[in-house]
Amino acid sequence: MNIHEYQAKALLRSYGAPVSDGRPVLRAEEAKTAAGELDGPLWVVKAQIHAGGRGKGKFVEPEAGEKGGVRLARSVSEAAELAKQMLGRTLVTHQTGPIGKQVNRIYIEAGSDIARELYLALLVDRQTSRISFVVSTEGGMDIEEVAAKTPEKILTFSVDPATGLSDFHGRRIAYALKLEGQAVKQCVQLVKTLYRAFLEKDMEMLEINPLVVTPEGTLKVLDAKVSFDNNAIYRHPDILALRDETEEDPKELAASKFDLNYIALDGEIGCMVNGAGLAMATMDIIKLYGAEPANFLDVGGGATKEKVTEAFKIITSDPNVKGILVNIFGGIMRCDIIAEGIIAAVKEVGLQVPLVVRLEGTNVEKGKEIIANSGLNVIAGDNLSDAAQKIVKAVKG
Ligand code: GDP
Ligand code: MG
Repeated sequence: MNIHEYQAKALLRSYGAPVSDGRPVLRAEEAKTAAGELDGPLWVVKAQIHAGGRGKGKFVEPEAGEKGGVRLARSVSEAAELAKQMLGRTLVTHQTGPIGKQVNRIYIEAGSDIARELYLALLVDRQTSRISFVVSTEGGMDIEEVAAKTPEKILTFSVDPATGLSDFHGRRIAYALKLEGQAVKQCVQLVKTLYRAFLEKDMEMLEINPLVVTPEGTLKVLDAKVSFDNNAIYRHPDILALRDETEEDPKELAASKFDLNYIALDGEIGCMVNGAGLAMATMDIIKLYGAEPANFLDVGGGATKEKVTEAFKIITSDPNVKGILVNIFGGIMRCDIIAEGIIAAVKEVGLQVPLVVRLEGTNVEKGKEIIANSGLNVIAGDNLSDAAQKIVKAVKG
């Protein structure tokens, strides 16, 4: 689960990290009061969306002005004006895709003066099975670009879970970031603080880009991006309360309510499969025959008819879907349940696109019979390869 920058900053502030004072704004009328509560002479007005690259982003609407999603203001009224321009508008960044994201929240922050911009992140490093710090002196820019052009400028420090974090981690990170004087001490403290927050809140990633050094030589968290481990979120009702469902893909949101493992993709063939491995194989074979999957969907081992119906509805609600492939291996799952789910869903939402169904396993004959007798225009697939070829042919002609 992801949260907004202002929520991440409030969380880090509560742990004692150096974060500037700021106010979230949900309605244009609140902007002036919010900005007035912060000390000048500089204010930063920031679009809050679950995507990075806001500073270099562009708004779709001309009314939002030429500048990106991070703007500097020199007065309270200018800050309020900038907030008004951005609220409700659509911001496109390299992480939002070409459609962009509507800005429903703004964060106004007391502006900082910057001497240097650094990069500091914590993540679960799957290679070492440890929590690692990833740092770079090249903050403020796209870290993927730094990794591609100057990989030697990115350093990784992993923490042994048996011994935990000690001051030397913080000092090594401080030297890697070329910090001096009081900033070294502050860095040691910050590293400890972030590590504690990361562990206690079951984070998956915590990225500060940029972490800045001010002209006075102190550190400040200027941007913060946090994602949490969904499997641990039940332990953190305070974090779950920060969830902003408007930032999530509506199809993925619907799927999560029915406990379906669904991920939207941008191809044309909708897939309904049971088992994550089979779902991956199905996506592969669709690609092999020259088309692209519109989604990953694992309905799970013991899906009910209602769950299958819901899954089918989610797939058909995607306008990109030009054909559907149902690929079921009935182990725990029974093929007749799948067949009934498909029929119930088609009765409810109709079927505008070709549908290929491949069933195998428990109650396969019964399942095939149900579909054959349904009067639906379903193409039967004999095996995975045959089914994939048939759906690609039906879609591509
Ligand atoms: P992002 O573009 O979504 O990553 O948003 P950031 O919060 O990282 O802001 C983008 C850039 O805006 C930063 O790299 C800074 O250069 C600049 N910026 C953000 N906050 C301030 C501030 O308080 N003062 C100044 N001078 N620049 C800022
Ligand atoms: Mg940033």
